[in-house]
Amino acid sequence: MADRLQWKIPGRISRLEELAYNLWWSWQPDARDLFRNVDYVRWRVDHNPVKELREVTPERLQQLAADPEFVALYDRVMAAFDAGVHSGRTWFGTSFPDMLDGPVAYFSMEFAIHNSLPIYAGGLGILAGDTCKEASGLGVPLVGVGFMYPQGYFRQHITGQGAQEERYRQLDFDEAPILPVAAADGSRLLVRVPLGKRAVHVSVWRVRVGRVDVYLLDTNVSENTPRHRQLSARLYVADLESRLQQEIVLGMGGVQVLRALGIKPAVWHANEGHTAFMTLERVREEMHAGLSFAEAARKVRSRTIFTTHTPVPAGQDAFPMDLVETYLADYCDSLRVDRRECLGLGQMPGSPGGPFTMAALAMRLSEHRYGVSRIHGEVARRMWQVLWPDREVDDVPVFHITNGIHTPTWVAPEMSEVFDQYLGADWLERHDDVSIWEKVADIPDHVLWNVRRALKHKLIEGVDELAQRAWAAKDVEPHHLVGIGALLHPEVLTIGFVRRFAEYKRPTLLFRDIERLKRLVREQFRPVQLVFAGKSHPADFASKELVSRVFNLSLDRDFMGRVAFLEDYNMHMAHYLAHGVDVWLNTPRRLNEACGTSGMKAVLNGVIHMSVRDGWWDEACNGTNGWAIGDVVKPPSNDEEDAMDAESVYRILERDVVPLFYMRDRQGVPHGWMAMVKESIRTLAPRFSTRRMMKEYIECSLGPVCRARP
Ligand SMILES: *Cc1c(COP(=O)(O)O)cnc(C)c1O
Repeated sequence: MADRLQWKIPGRISRLEELAYNLWWSWQPDARDLFRNVDYVRWRVDHNPVKELREVTPERLQQLAADPEFVALYDRVMAAFDAGVHSGRTWFGTSFPDMLDGPVAYFSMEFAIHNSLPIYAGGLGILAGDTCKEASGLGVPLVGVGFMYPQGYFRQHITGQGAQEERYRQLDFDEAPILPVAAADGSRLLVRVPLGKRAVHVSVWRVRVGRVDVYLLDTNVSENTPRHRQLSARLYVADLESRLQQEIVLGMGGVQVLRALGIKPAVWHANEGHTAFMTLERVREEMHAGLSFAEAARKVRSRTIFTTHTPVPAGQDAFPMDLVETYLADYCDSLRVDRRECLGLGQMPGSPGGPFTMAALAMRLSEHRYGVSRIHGEVARRMWQVLWPDREVDDVPVFHITNGIHTPTWVAPEMSEVFDQYLGADWLERHDDVSIWEKVADIPDHVLWNVRRALKHKLIEGVDELAQRAWAAKDVEPHHLVGIGALLHPEVLTIGFVRRFAEYKRPTLLFRDIERLKRLVREQFRPVQLVFAGKSHPADFASKELVSRVFNLSLDRDFMGRVAFLEDYNMHMAHYLAHGVDVWLNTPRRLNEACGTSGMKAVLNGVIHMSVRDGWWDEACNGTNGWAIGDVVKPPSNDEEDAMDAESVYRILERDVVPLFYMRDRQGVPHGWMAMVKESIRTLAPRFSTRRMMKEYIECSLGPVCRARP
């Protein structure tokens, strides 16, 4: 129970603590308002109610309990909380009352639920977090299983030489919205997970996400060896053996943890291959219950959903076979399954001695297999045809369900108010209904434009504040202030390139013709500014070079003030950027982007998307709701692809984007731009949400009708 702070919270508002420990508050504007009122100054810095309640004085809480306005807001929020978290009536409960006899267990290496819980690296985690939130909203019974990394991913700092430096900070668990899970006798729950010749002890934390619980595994307990204690310290460690150990603990240990908690999932969902060992643990359970290996595998498969996110073979999570054998030999032997057959579950056909590929294991032991966009579904069928060699590519049983975003999390409050007014007060409850979005046409241009301007001002002010904080902390060289955005201007057309830095995403494509870009940026009356943000994986040296290149270009005299690189991209910053820029740019090499979701956050808020036709954009763009870069067909070489796309980006910017943005009426409103914004919101907002996505998962994996299937 969350009752660590009850001693100082007055009875009248005692449920503030329960609310702080349920991240439901994070997508509820009124609940956020409530915590903003508790201690405005502290709220602004951390947006972390648990920390805020710990630090606020008892006198302040007494004062709030006696403040009629605060108490009225509190009552309203708690009523909504009970309706949204405890009430029985939900979409799932109404549509499929008898479908599941247990929850869906959703395994993921990372969960991005809120910035105060930094256990994510990027898009995969955002999807997992948004999925949990949507499950809560729709009433889908779901439990998440992941890791509680005390150091999470890393914080990105740019050094005086313009290089990415990774900083790790230990999270104070007392300030995080997590609670320890106890065993039946009240002591700390500890689960013993076999790991090769040894065993590792795992303790468990629980995060509440509305109706959904996410259980996070933690190996930092005194019963473990120092090395095992470090096992769950960080996300995506480069060392393969540690990584393998993590995945065994997550997959096999995760199943054991659910058992220890008495949870009996009806369906198991593996989010990406990292989690696939959960299938082996369940095979073991079935064999202990008396089934043969083949029967056990069949039974496990029938209850497993797998989502793949990796369109390139080189990106697959895979381990050398001898390493895997070290850890899984005992597993195979104890089940009396021939090692070759047992370990062969992770082998790609035709590559004897090749690595153990997690996605291959997941493909073999799942019944429902999905890519994450239409085009990625096609890529995945081609890639996995090796497992079904007697089938045509189109008949390979891998389908797709296009990802989405959790609309309440990603809509800006300012935009939400406009939707309230013009789409109807119930727009949020009905946001996957295409018809309500037709009313976007009714929003007057100047109203929408004013919101767009306000969001851009908010972004630029936020950037200024970060620069000031870095300055005050003596964490930035004086001449870097401009590079981190201190001179950006809120009236200038702003293009955002905000995503993980990886070579295939081509963050420096825009700089292919530097002089042409300088002309765009330095145009006297119609200038352009570019905002970059994104981390490189610590072991990806090629992409770290790209971070340095962009950062150093931001310090070029001609780009200064018009090109900025913001340090330490995270979920909090993602809100400001996806709400505040004018154009969201995505330039992956074709067939490399599985889906991408950040553009969906942007278009929901009236930002226009400009992207290569890959991932979600291939099925989303219609010629009038944004811009498609280059051709659909992939050129034969990388250099030709880069040349084609760079030329296309420049041309679209020069001919379309800049003129449209700066064509204003006497009040300064760009009507042409607003028309495109509206077309973009109207056509994209209802489709690219986790609401639509989750319903498709339910219908396609469990229900009789699947609308998403080709
Ligand atoms: C949405 C989001 C992502 C995913 O972005 P894509 O590049 O579109 O896949 C990654 N990181 C953060 C912090 C996000 O908010």
